[in-house]
Amino acid sequence: MPFEPRFPYSRALRKELVVNAATSFVPRLDALRSGFLSRPHRLFIDGKWISAQSGETLTVLDPSTGKPLAEVAAGDKADVDLAVRAARRAFQSGRWPSLSHAERGRLISRLADLIERDADDIALLESLDGGNPVRSTRHVDVAMAIESLRYNAGWTTKLTGETALASPQSRSFSYTLREPIGVVGAITPWNAPFLMAVNKIAPALAAGCTVVLKPAELAPLTALRLGQLLEELELPPGVVNIVTGYGSSAGQALVDHPDVNKISFTGSTRVGKSILAGAAVNMKRVTLELGGKSPVIIFPDADIEAATQATSQTIFFKTGQFCAAGTRLFAHRKVFDRVVEGFAERARKVKVGPGIAPDSDMGPIISEKQLDRVMGYIGAGAGDGADVVTGGKRIDREGYFVQPTLLANVRPNMSVFQDEIFGPVLCAMPFSDASELEQLAQLANDTSYGLAANIWTRDLVAAHGLARRIQAGTITINGGGREQPLPFGGYKQSGLGREGGREGIEAYTEIKTVAIGL
Ligand code: NAP
Ligand code: MG
Repeated sequence: MPFEPRFPYSRALRKELVVNAATSFVPRLDALRSGFLSRPHRLFIDGKWISAQSGETLTVLDPSTGKPLAEVAAGDKADVDLAVRAARRAFQSGRWPSLSHAERGRLISRLADLIERDADDIALLESLDGGNPVRSTRHVDVAMAIESLRYNAGWTTKLTGETALASPQSRSFSYTLREPIGVVGAITPWNAPFLMAVNKIAPALAAGCTVVLKPAELAPLTALRLGQLLEELELPPGVVNIVTGYGSSAGQALVDHPDVNKISFTGSTRVGKSILAGAAVNMKRVTLELGGKSPVIIFPDADIEAATQATSQTIFFKTGQFCAAGTRLFAHRKVFDRVVEGFAERARKVKVGPGIAPDSDMGPIISEKQLDRVMGYIGAGAGDGADVVTGGKRIDREGYFVQPTLLANVRPNMSVFQDEIFGPVLCAMPFSDASELEQLAQLANDTSYGLAANIWTRDLVAAHGLARRIQAGTITINGGGREQPLPFGGYKQSGLGREGGREGIEAYTEIKTVAIGL
């Protein structure tokens, strides 16, 4: 089945990045297996690769087999402390703070070039580690990471402060200075590890900060690959440090560290809340990109084919392990059956398989534990009276595979309709009155989350009317994709602050007002 995620990446870039699967996969995989994957990985601290001080390591699994893939260092508090010290030194002295804005921008752009050069390898590694089809790791994750770096590189020369309007009688002259916030602790999840790491590092570096990155224990490999590129880039030592390890030790140590100025976190709402509480100790700045349970609202006048296609894609994309996935479907009664059938038909044709198989449309769930969680939700939905229209079963093969699943006739009070499942599960219910925008918005807003919403209609009044009423950080109408310069983030318990765009880079700065008496 032709499956192209609809995400914003430029046509030119896509052309450049076309994966020639048949000819390039096998030798590249062999090279990865005998090279990168065959040796234990250490921590990247102060420009050097070092073992965890405890000597502990952790085994990274391939979710499509459940078998070991690589061995990485399990850093903890002591390693985080080393990394934070290195980041502090790099922030305050040496080459980094004395670089011109243009030179900093050049380094960030150069990192984009290095990623572009190695894009195939990075995408393959990402697919092995996280399980997502190489088509999407290549054309979405890696492509968007490159764009993010290029976009943020441009900001280095454009961040400015303001001066206050001066009346002729004014006895004072005041202005603002925008300053880098300092040492940033970046904590990332496993569902888009490379892109998330880059999305944090790019604006942090553009603003002049230094970074300690703690990638997810379940998929840390591409962050380490990024470390190799940072080494090649000759970024001054300590500007970016990478500490692999567990959230409860390395992650928590970063949150607790008194010399970290900001935590930029992407992950679950549960951990996000504990980070917010932990950051209070020394009043760290925090950006939180958390979970979602985003609505899809399909009006009777919509392009049903396009709406069904796009809704299916976001469920299959990353096996539903995607924070902004539209997982609560509200389709008008007149078109409900068509939408349900359209989704079911696509779901049945989806080729489920390992991310590195060139013809896979959808990969495995990241871990046994996550798979159990997804299966638990499907069972609970069925138990609560939802109809399992398609899917619903674990796939009988090695690895953590589940069928793409549609639960229909779901009611808003069911757990499957309220909780983020983080699997390929779409929950659907019909609505009757398309003119009642207030009621529709209430349905859409009936969740603790507020990350995204998708509206499908040809009626401009309904589309814009709903866009205003829905509490979500990103609203797409008829399949629109967010472009780089615009921010992304959550209302309510989907997060705090924004990533991307001007807001995203400004979140790595402090603002200072300076007033001079004349
Ligand atoms: P998670 O369990 O919250 O973990 C995210 C990161 O936090 C991991 O690196 C984790 O380490 C670390 N961590 C865990 N406990 C910690 C603690 N006490 N202190 C500091 N760090 C800690 O989330 P996940 O399961 O990896 O990712 C799935 C979640 O991320 C979903 O809820 C999804 O919606 C959300 N997400 C949101 C966005 C967005 O932009 N809004 C994007 C992608 C994903 P370990 O790996 O060791 O657990
Ligand atoms: Mg893994």
